[in-house]
Amino acid sequence: MCGIFGIHARNEDVANLTYFGLFALQHRGQESAGIAVGNGHSVVIHRDMGLVNQVFSPGQLAEMNGVVALGHARYSTTGASRAENAHPLPIRHPVLGPAAIAHNGNLLNAESIRRDLEAQGVVFETSLDTEIMARLIESTHGKTWSEVIKGAFARVVGAYSCGVITSDSVIAIRDPFGFRPLCIGFIPHGSGQPSHVFASETCALDTVNATFVREVQPGEMVVMDEHGLQSVVFQKQNRHAMCVFEFIYFARPDSILKNCELEEARIRMGQVLAREAPVDADMVIALPDSGTPAAIGYAEASGIPFREGLVKSRYINRTFIQPTQSLREAGVMLKLNPLKRSLQGKRVIAVDDSIVRGTSSKRVIDMLRRARATEVHMRISSPPMRFPCFMGVDIGSSKELIAARRTVPQIRDYIGADSLAYLSIPGLMKAVGRGTIDEFCRACFDGSYPVAVPQQLEMDKLALETR
Ligand code: SF4
Repeated sequence: MCGIFGIHARNEDVANLTYFGLFALQHRGQESAGIAVGNGHSVVIHRDMGLVNQVFSPGQLAEMNGVVALGHARYSTTGASRAENAHPLPIRHPVLGPAAIAHNGNLLNAESIRRDLEAQGVVFETSLDTEIMARLIESTHGKTWSEVIKGAFARVVGAYSCGVITSDSVIAIRDPFGFRPLCIGFIPHGSGQPSHVFASETCALDTVNATFVREVQPGEMVVMDEHGLQSVVFQKQNRHAMCVFEFIYFARPDSILKNCELEEARIRMGQVLAREAPVDADMVIALPDSGTPAAIGYAEASGIPFREGLVKSRYINRTFIQPTQSLREAGVMLKLNPLKRSLQGKRVIAVDDSIVRGTSSKRVIDMLRRARATEVHMRISSPPMRFPCFMGVDIGSSKELIAARRTVPQIRDYIGADSLAYLSIPGLMKAVGRGTIDEFCRACFDGSYPVAVPQQLEMDKLALETR
């Protein structure tokens, strides 16, 4: 997870535009936020714990003047959830001067790079893999930032959509597999030079009235400065592996990925699911908000009416991305309340996008039964999650993933549903509208990791399981 936003714009309030961009990306990370601004001479960073609007006041933003800015909304995968781990992280290159980095993803060879750098005398202040990138950039020789970043990222393996800001440029970098999304837009200024932006999702471009240009290609680095845009392909990879979970859950439904509006893809997931796993019932309801498009699709394809059955508090953050299990569980109860009169005496199909640990589903089904629904059929618009993610999504170890330990009938019994069915992997690929499954990472469903996972990382996950 995590959201990043970068902008190069002369005569614009780049800090405020970045603030708006981060606001649109808040769903990708709610633990901390930060913005760095380059003013031609230096890079000023403000970062702290909290939501974007808790970290920044109008006064702080007004003091951050410059021509380039880079923002980050964080969800932690490596490194604890605390203020010094908030991004962007400062960089001081011995030749090229100050910069900062923000990262969405997870490195697979972080430990070996860290050991090499420590052997050269580099001192680390955090356990973040992003700091490893920062120190690696500082240790890489080159006459320009492009050369340095190209050299540094040639050593990095894993999932990264990154932004680097210098005093007068901002640079978007996407890993050769393209695990995490990253897109480019521009803001026209009459006959003057347009402003360029990049963001984790297109919804952030819309927020600042930028026009979507294209995605940053896997293995591409895009430099935005006073000369406009320069593209550098720094690594080629035959196979691309965008995280299919971006389509299912992570990215906002109004974002466009691979030329596909995600709301539409999610509706199609529900339609395919209805054809794969039909059941007779009186109403289809969603687990709002992330299950809503798939529930609409299921209702359309099945002919069973879609109704609101659960009302969501607008002021609760997403439960899946809370850092601890107890916070996640408390979040479910605060978040949802059943429409008792609508549900009473009804056979209900409840559609959700995924089951991770099963605890949320169990609580929701209990809630529906207490509202006197006579039957509850659970339908999930993704395949069972059986394998951990090493590419930047904290879905936990195999021990935490209920589908890694139980069969579908056992999960049905655990959550207390009358029936349970998941979307198949071929059904998912059909719904995202792509013929070749090799364009996507789907390793949490089938264990087929697009990049070799170092044994140590697998052992670390195993250690978590046995703790
Ligand atoms: S393992 Fe799953 S969550 Fe992780 S990148 Fe692959 S598809 Fe996405």
